[in-house]
Amino acid sequence: MKLVILGAAGRMGRTLVRVVKETEGAKLSAAIEREGSLALGNDAGELAGAGHLGIPVSSDLAAALDAADGVIDFTAPASSVAVAHDAARRGLVHIIGTTGCSESDDAAIARAAQAGARIVKSGNMSLGVNLLAVLAEQAARALGPDAFDVEILEMHHRHKVDAPSGTALLLGEAAAAGREIALKEQSVRVRDGHTGPREAGTIGFATLRGGSVVGDHQVILAGEGERIELSHRAEDRAIFARGAVRAALWARGQSPGLYSMRQVLGF
Ligand code: NAP
Repeated sequence: MKLVILGAAGRMGRTLVRVVKETEGAKLSAAIEREGSLALGNDAGELAGAGHLGIPVSSDLAAALDAADGVIDFTAPASSVAVAHDAARRGLVHIIGTTGCSESDDAAIARAAQAGARIVKSGNMSLGVNLLAVLAEQAARALGPDAFDVEILEMHHRHKVDAPSGTALLLGEAAAAGREIALKEQSVRVRDGHTGPREAGTIGFATLRGGSVVGDHQVILAGEGERIELSHRAEDRAIFARGAVRAALWARGQSPGLYSMRQVLGF
């Protein structure tokens, strides 16, 4: 499967170049950065520490998509929305790891999936976090809102630009599904000053930023006299890249549409 890596000079982009090289059935066909990037012209493999691949980083996205079966995209919301429409026109697989998308971004991505793209979008592409989401949903269902409060804590490196993380929101959605509530109406994303007591049934988020942390997440179910903590620590970005490449190979055999990582993994 010929794959384009978008944002190929980024932290995830470079990891993806290495993982695509190691994955049977996947082949890097182009590495894209935007116009003006200092990475343009550099060999994508050398940039990623994967040795010379003979694929220079380019800004010619249209030519890259014309020659590919799919595109893996860990970039920024505006770029992911635009590429989803490009993918729809060509019937391509589009794997979106980008986080921080607004509701209107998500609606535009859903429209691209209806228009012919095979999209897998997830705030976290790792096996472990998607299993954690299943466990969070089960725990939130089993331990009701009268007895247990759900709080989600996350920590990431100092360069991360969106909060709460896409993974924290994914875990919040899972807990909300377990409770049969809408996360949007029941989440507390910031606490500051005299907030008053905790409102029963809400799902709280807390965000930490610092250093080089790849991604730590904890779902805490706090009751009277006891607490359950479900946690995941990402130690290597390769877990996300392996999930994304697996999603691309899986999506190639699917009808156009919008899929989740839980569907890819069969959870
Ligand atoms: P990063 O190091 O900043 O890399 C992003 C790359 O995308 C940069 O090289 C950036 O170029 C490039 N880019 C931005 N807009 C572009 C465009 N229009 N065309 C081409 N390239 C473009 O960030 P990162 O740590 O790799 O993370 C990227 C995204 O993935 C974030 O949203 C992050 O939260 C998410 N993420 C998701 C998962 C998951 O499993 N779903 C895991 C890890 C990270 P410039 O430097 O020129 O802007």
